[in-house]
Amino acid sequence: MVTRDGGGKGRSKKEKKVSPDAPLTFETVDLFAQALTLFDRAADVMGLEPYVRTILQHPKNEIIVNFPVRLDDGRYKVFKGYRVQHNNVLGPYKGGIRYARFVTLGELKAMAFWMTMKNSLVGVPFGGAKGGVKLDPAHYSESEIQRITRRYTHALGTNIGPDWDIPAPDMGTNAQTMVWIADTYVNTFGSAVRFAGRGVVTGKTIANGGSLGRDEATGRGVVCTVQSWAAGNGTDLSKCTFAVQGFGNVGSFAGRILGDLGATMLAVQDHTGAIANPSGIDPHALAAHVRAAGGVKGFPGAKETTTEAFWATKCDILIPAALEYQITEQVAPTLRCRLVAEGANGPTAPEADAVLAAKGIEVIPDILANAGGVAVSFFEWTQNRRGESWTLDEVRAKLRTYMDTAYGRVKDVARERRIDNRTAAYVVSLTRLQEVYRERGIFP
Ligand code: NAD
Repeated sequence: MVTRDGGGKGRSKKEKKVSPDAPLTFETVDLFAQALTLFDRAADVMGLEPYVRTILQHPKNEIIVNFPVRLDDGRYKVFKGYRVQHNNVLGPYKGGIRYARFVTLGELKAMAFWMTMKNSLVGVPFGGAKGGVKLDPAHYSESEIQRITRRYTHALGTNIGPDWDIPAPDMGTNAQTMVWIADTYVNTFGSAVRFAGRGVVTGKTIANGGSLGRDEATGRGVVCTVQSWAAGNGTDLSKCTFAVQGFGNVGSFAGRILGDLGATMLAVQDHTGAIANPSGIDPHALAAHVRAAGGVKGFPGAKETTTEAFWATKCDILIPAALEYQITEQVAPTLRCRLVAEGANGPTAPEADAVLAAKGIEVIPDILANAGGVAVSFFEWTQNRRGESWTLDEVRAKLRTYMDTAYGRVKDVARERRIDNRTAAYVVSLTRLQEVYRERGIFP
């Protein structure tokens, strides 16, 4: 069932006036209700203990902070920041921080829930969380973003910490943002935590305690799962074509790595428009263009096209790597690919799954396909704790092991239970969570 955003909690009428007849979009859909629909499907299939189901239907903590920041022109503005901590039964809360104008509590509840599922599935010792600040990063200078980041971190205070809740980059944030968070955190809590405190975030720059391979990790992880899919059905990736929505961190690394394996990128769409070239788009040249121009629009190696034509691109692999709720019940019938590998979180509406299945399109679900980011975040956190620096080859080899193991488990469960990959991924994840709850019980 699709509903509008969660009970007025996520988005006030003042923020967004939506006609009740307007089609749902990623900004108006109740994403948390969507996430629970997927959860219920798997919980029913596996007969999840009712008390575990009840617990996981709610985030443990929903933190909202309002904090003032001085802008470059001398004005002061109060920003709204969030941190949702869904579950920590497997370890410290873990999940990204996004800066976007559409950030809401409802969206972050869904994202935090998905982090619990993802971390359990990929086998890292973390729970699930997600945070964000409601702002359009394009409207602020770098020094304003720095002051916003530092005040947000200060406002979160002890709600984050290397043994409690560990943020990472997501949409609109990057390694620089993480370094500002780490620096603010260690300065807030004193010199005693100066080095240990750096583990409060992952996805930092290398000079400031980051891990080699973290920047590319989510995109590379997506490609690992695509390689497993190809190996499983005798597909030669070097003869494959693909299309990518979103050419930021996840989309551009996935595109470049797939391109390096010989696959041909036919179309890309982002917030500036859509481009296509039937002879192929050079992913490295496009990444350089996006860095300089801020989006795919105007790329000389392709022609502009429409969003509708982008979705209808005839290709082997489609990688949504931008926003949630993109492959809707209306968009799904127009797809002409063999595989959807979900780089983004929640890009496919629950109703669209049946449409894709009926068309014979396989889906590698988000909590599996994009788990490479949190896997390498775990490696970074481990290196920080041990005072180690792993080589890029080590990181890539370990990432492949985690991704291949998770992919194998999902396919085994899908085969054994004759269920789709998404439901199977949730079953794997929930089985681990249920086992922990069964053994330790509920306090008191
Ligand atoms: P990013 O900010 O680096 O890039 C976002 C991309 O989305 C950009 O190309 C932007 O143009 C595009 N976009 C924004 N609005 C759009 C619109 N209206 N229509 C089409 N495209 C639009 O973000 P990212 O880190 O690459 O994250 C992308 C997705 O991957 C998100 O769903 C995020 O939660 C998910 N994800 C990211 C990571 C990570 O490590 N960064 C890990 C797991 C999942």
